Amino acid sequence: MSAVLLSGKELARTIKQKAHQEARDLEADGFHPSLAVVVATDDGSTHWYVRSIERAAEGTGISCRIVDLGPDATAQILVSVLQDLSEDSSIHGIILQTPLPPGVAADKLVGHITPEKDVDGANPSSLGRLAVGLPSFAPATARAVIEILDHFDIPLAGRNVVVIGRSAVVGKPLSLLLLERDAAVTVCHSRSGPLERYTRSADVVVVAAGRTGLLNGTHLSSGAVVIDVGTNVLPDGSLVGDVDEDSVRGVAAALTPVPGGVGSVTTSLLLLHTTEAARERSRALVRGSAG
Ligand code: NAP
Repeated sequence: MSAVLLSGKELARTIKQKAHQEARDLEADGFHPSLAVVVATDDGSTHWYVRSIERAAEGTGISCRIVDLGPDATAQILVSVLQDLSEDSSIHGIILQTPLPPGVAADKLVGHITPEKDVDGANPSSLGRLAVGLPSFAPATARAVIEILDHFDIPLAGRNVVVIGRSAVVGKPLSLLLLERDAAVTVCHSRSGPLERYTRSADVVVVAAGRTGLLNGTHLSSGAVVIDVGTNVLPDGSLVGDVDEDSVRGVAAALTPVPGGVGSVTTSLLLLHTTEAARERSRALVRGSAG
C-alpha cells in the first residue's frame, strides 16, 4: 500500500478565494478587513508560520499587520498591545503567536483579545462556547483538520479518531469539533502511555505534538488516515511534521504532507475568519445606526 497524499493546497485556494470575495463585498460596503498578528519570539518556525499568513493575505484585499515586539517583550507590553488592538476599529482579527518570551504565559494574555476579533479561537471564552456548541471562532488549525477530512470525503460519524496532543490551540478544540461530528474520540498526550495502544485501532489519527518522527507505520493499522499537524524546523531550515513519512506511507491509506497540508488550509481559514469578524462588525454597526 502507498498512502494517497492529501494535499491541502486546492482546499486552501478555494477558502482563500471565498475570503477574497468576502473582502470585495465588505470593501463595497466601505469596510476594509484587517488582521493583526502579534509576535514576541525569535523562534524560527513561528516566523516561518507568520510569513505564511502574510503571504496568504497578499492579493486578497485583507490587510495583515505584523506586530513584532521582539523576544524580550514583557507581559505588560503584550497586554497593552492586545487591549489597543481590541479597541482599534480598523482591526477585525487578532492573533497572538506562541511561543512567548520565557516567563510570559499565553493563558494570562489571550483573555485580552476581545472575542469578536478572536479569529484563532484563543480566548478561553471561545473554547468554552465551542464546548457547549455556541457560535464562536474555532482555532483555525483545528477547523482546518475538519475541513481537510470533509474535502476528501473521509467520514467521521461513528469512526474511531485518535488525536495526539491536548493543547488548547489544537488537540482540545479539535476533539470538541470531532465530537460535534459524532466521532468516537481518544486524546493522547505525553503521559497517556504507548501510542500504539490507541492508534492501532484508529480509523483516523491526527498528530499534533511537535515531535519529529513521533508517529510511524508500526503505530497504525492498515488503511488508517493520518493527518499531520506538526511543524518542526530541522537544523537545515526545512520543515517536517510529526510523522515518519516513509514508514507511514506503506501502511496508511492517506496522509497529509508537511508542508502543503494542514498549514496551508489554516492560514486561509484565518483570512476567512477575519472577513467573518469584519462582516459581524459591519452588521453590528448597521444595527446600531438603525436602533
Ligand atoms: P504544544 O502546546 O507543545 O502541545 C503538544 C502536545 O503534544 C501536548 O499535549 C503534549 O502532551 C503532546 N505530546 C508531546 N510529546 C508527546 C509524545 N511523545 N507522545 C504523545 N503526546 C505528546 O503544541 P501545539 O501548539 O498544540 O502544536 C503542536 C504541533 O502543531 C507543533 O508542531 C506546532 O508547530 C504545530 N502547529 C501547526 C499548525 C499548523 O497550522 N500547521 C498550527 C498550530 C500548531 P502534554 O500535554 O502531556 O505535554
